[in-house]
Amino acid sequence: MSASPLPQCVNLRKAVTHGAHYSGVLSGEQIPRLASLLDPDKTRVNVAIRFGRDDEDRSVAEVSLDASVVLVCQRCLGPLKHAINSRSVLGLVPGDEQARALPADYEPWIAIEEVDLWEMAAEELALAIPVVAYHDNCEAPLSPGTGSEIETGTAAESADSPFSVLATLLERSDDNKEK
Ligand SMILES: [Zn+2]
Repeated sequence: MSASPLPQCVNLRKAVTHGAHYSGVLSGEQIPRLASLLDPDKTRVNVAIRFGRDDEDRSVAEVSLDASVVLVCQRCLGPLKHAINSRSVLGLVPGDEQARALPADYEPWIAIEEVDLWEMAAEELALAIPVVAYHDNCEAPLSPGTGSEIETGTAAESADSPFSVLATLLERSDDNKEK
């Protein structure tokens, strides 16, 4: 995997016209808005973004992420290693109106002249991170600080569509109601 950094801003029209392909590593400090979820020192995300046009001449970007992140187990509060592999297609549109006209399997991305690749990757990463994650065999009583070793765990369905994230959110709001 390439260890070069991901460029930040690119010209939208040029990228689409040339079918530009960008890849690189996004580090934790480049994604400050996820700092509450992810340890910035342990977060490295391999990103590949390919621009182009689809069959109907729509401007699109295909975003692929490959990352290993450390989340917090919601049962024992210990570190939990979680692998993320996601791929999504973003429809690049100038505004909300065009966003509504996109096919259902496209995520809208509003951009006019420039595209911020860091922001794009951060958004996809945010969608791919499970809201609630537990160790596979976590039997910890609710005492924090016991999990010093990092175990791999299953998170609530590795999300590759916004709908599975939504499902996770709904589950969580149900949990909250019970408390
Ligand atoms: Zn745990």
